[in-house]
Amino acid sequence: MFYRTLEDFKNASGYNVDGLWYPRVTAIVGMKAKPGLYKFYAEQESFETGEAVKAKSAEEGTLAHDTVEAILRGEPPAIPEIIKPVVEAFFNFLNHNKVVAKLIEERVISKRHQYSGTMDVLAEINNRLGVLDIKTSYSIFRDYGIQTSAYVEALNERKNLPELTRWILRLDQHKKCLHCPAVLRTKGGNIKIRGEKKFCNHQWGEMIGEAELKELPSYQKDFNAFLACKTLWEWENEFWLNRLGY
Ligand SMILES: [Zn+2]
Repeated sequence: MFYRTLEDFKNASGYNVDGLWYPRVTAIVGMKAKPGLYKFYAEQESFETGEAVKAKSAEEGTLAHDTVEAILRGEPPAIPEIIKPVVEAFFNFLNHNKVVAKLIEERVISKRHQYSGTMDVLAEINNRLGVLDIKTSYSIFRDYGIQTSAYVEALNERKNLPELTRWILRLDQHKKCLHCPAVLRTKGGNIKIRGEKKFCNHQWGEMIGEAELKELPSYQKDFNAFLACKTLWEWENEFWLNRLGY
């Protein structure tokens, strides 16, 4: 990444908390390569199209994300048509699990490891406490463990918290083919068919939402990976960090 000024770098990569600047978790985690992204861009008409689809997809993701957090706050908002199936799946998830949100969009800091981040939700789910991260992807990727381990580690520096677990709640919507196992997603206006069998004139059913909760194991391994990302991030940004007196 290129930054024109120190202020640009600081704003893009971190948070000011009580007069001190900390790099942010998402900037650090961004150091890890995502090979899936190459494939995604290769499938687009142009790099610009890819950027537009990504932006649109992120917008839809944010919309679902904000709606779900508003529901958890007990302030159910008007639900936009485009994310109705996924929100329905979320309500269904709430009906089948005991979920109490303790903190939402909370800024967390690790003074020991020097970073800051904003976690989605600290939640009690079926009487256990943990960090809940909401994703709107078609699958739960192992990378998510790196980000969430950083939030748990920062929370562990607070006193009086019991041992925390980590969950990903994946919220997505898709159409299923009525004749074969193929699944169609249209997130960000990008039409993507997965699990396709040959020789099928797909006939798509209704858009249906899904909510998948997964508990993440191997916290220590994930946090070690986070620290490795941080080392690499510090190396990459050495120029600006030196100017900052970091
Ligand atoms: Zn089919």
